[in-house]
Amino acid sequence: MTTQPGGTSDEPIIGIDLGTTNSLVAYCDATGPVVIEGTEGDPVVPSCVRFDPTGGRHEAVGREARDHAVEFPEHTVFSAKRLMGRGIDAVKDEIDYLPYKVVSGDHDTARIDISGRIYTPQEVSAYILQELKTRAEAHFDKPVRKAVITVPAYFDDAQRQATRDAGRIAGLEVVRIVNEPTAAALAYDLDRQQDSTIAVYDLGGGTFDVSILRLNKGVFQVLSTAGDTHLGGDDIDRAIVELIQKEIRAQFGDGLSFPPSTRQAFRSFAEATKIRLSNDESAEIEVALGEDRVYHRTLMRTELIDIMQPWVEKTIDACKRALRDAKLKPADVDQVVMVGGSTRIPLVQQVVGQFFDAEPYTALNPDTVVALGASVQAAIIAGINREALLLDVIPLSLGIETMGGAVAKIIVRNTTVPAVAAEKFSTYVDGQTNVKINVYQGERELTKDCRLLGSFDLTGIPPMPAGLPKVEVTFMVDANGILTVTAVERRSEKQASIQVVPNHGLTRNEVDRMEMESYEHAIDDMTEHRLIDLRNQAKLDIRQISKQLEKVGDEVKADYRAEIDTKVSTVQQFIDDREADPNAFHQALTDMDHTTIRLAELAIAKTLRDEGLAD
Ligand code: AMP
Repeated sequence: MTTQPGGTSDEPIIGIDLGTTNSLVAYCDATGPVVIEGTEGDPVVPSCVRFDPTGGRHEAVGREARDHAVEFPEHTVFSAKRLMGRGIDAVKDEIDYLPYKVVSGDHDTARIDISGRIYTPQEVSAYILQELKTRAEAHFDKPVRKAVITVPAYFDDAQRQATRDAGRIAGLEVVRIVNEPTAAALAYDLDRQQDSTIAVYDLGGGTFDVSILRLNKGVFQVLSTAGDTHLGGDDIDRAIVELIQKEIRAQFGDGLSFPPSTRQAFRSFAEATKIRLSNDESAEIEVALGEDRVYHRTLMRTELIDIMQPWVEKTIDACKRALRDAKLKPADVDQVVMVGGSTRIPLVQQVVGQFFDAEPYTALNPDTVVALGASVQAAIIAGINREALLLDVIPLSLGIETMGGAVAKIIVRNTTVPAVAAEKFSTYVDGQTNVKINVYQGERELTKDCRLLGSFDLTGIPPMPAGLPKVEVTFMVDANGILTVTAVERRSEKQASIQVVPNHGLTRNEVDRMEMESYEHAIDDMTEHRLIDLRNQAKLDIRQISKQLEKVGDEVKADYRAEIDTKVSTVQQFIDDREADPNAFHQALTDMDHTTIRLAELAIAKTLRDEGLAD
């Protein structure tokens, strides 16, 4: 048995693809990776959660939630991944298209408002992760506590941290965060182990990224990565919805407004139309608007191509950036591996094929490849698969603010992780005893164009003339791409107590609270479940007792009858009490059952007599 940090190799580590649209869980043992299916044999859990109308509890996760999203638009949450770790300003354009309510929370974070109950996107994602965890636990018939979770390569620090937090809220220790394209490359290379340069082109529902990797004797090195956290199939769905709404208004009047349920119906409809046009040349659209108004039109594949062309071009621009960073030309790429549901679109395959001048590799199922790769990474960590070694890269440069709002980059993008780099700075003012350190992420030169990840103060520097203090700032990015920053003034050895909490992430306290709440809810949920079972059993038993009393009531003595009535009415009170204590309920039910054993015997004896089997 191989001992691992925090566990042993016989403890399963699962691989999770937490997607914008769909999520999957996979496991890899010595025989290879497999996706763990649900009881219905379905590998996919739609990333969708439905809450009850009061917003107090979640009612359904996955397919059930997605299939009824149109009926419950305001309390069904999908695409939570798009909101994770993001500020409200960054997502304000798309909020209009979401049928549920998104509001601003602490640090201007995007939060979800279900009838006044506020959820963070991390909590919603945690429900999806819990569903996958339960699925894996049913498969192994034992608890699962550890997971590798994939994220788009372009996810910044706050979004990665948010993913970790979601895992923790779901009761999972996220042992590694892996970039989705890297996971895909792991799955792709599994049985070939051939030295080559590959591009992984991943176009899903909400995000796009492309990574260039070199595979060399079992070592995967990510050379570069580029993409867009806000580019995916959802954009096409939205463009089709806009087209439908525009044409409906043109035909039936500008004043028409579309309530959330209609918008949700349009969205589902638009997606189905888009998928149909991947196979067919045309698709019919028909929308009944009431009062005999019907909107009808045929959407041709050629029209959809016009809508999609600029969108596909944007992905090619990212491919060019990734190649430039890797110092390669399209012809240097041996294979283009296609990942994500939107790579089924013929136009995407055609444009990508033309750009790389190579037939895109579509043999892997684009829906499951990332989860399978995540499970391969999990197997590497668990010591099951020692063949492959993964070298990932930092997707965006990291640095600190210097005078005049400029950014000094300390770790440049596409540096292999884990990475450590340090820079020395000094003070600008005589006698300066404090230095404020603002940590930024991004490629631009000025802070206003980059993203502020966090700030901290190095205090207690002894007063010295400007320029004399030597402040050393060290950036450390761990294997998960998570950043820690430390600062030391070398002359005085003053060190700051530093915690970089991403501005759009959750504080440790918030995550702790949510984790506790999720445990508390788990207990509530179990109690509720037990009460439902007890109520059902009690109703059955009372029905049985009243049948027996009908049959042999005249043989029952008055004091025994009174005792039965008391026990039944106690149980009846528990049935009617929504807040009943399940243990007391159980006790009352057992008492009633005990008391009525004699009644049951009398009833059986009477039946046997009636049948002539006894006297
Ligand atoms: P993913 O995030 O990888 O699960 O991809 C989901 C996206 O793929 C959604 O936008 C789907 O509408 C889209 N998708 C799935 N199958 C097809 C298809 N056959 N044609 C076009 N888009 C598809």
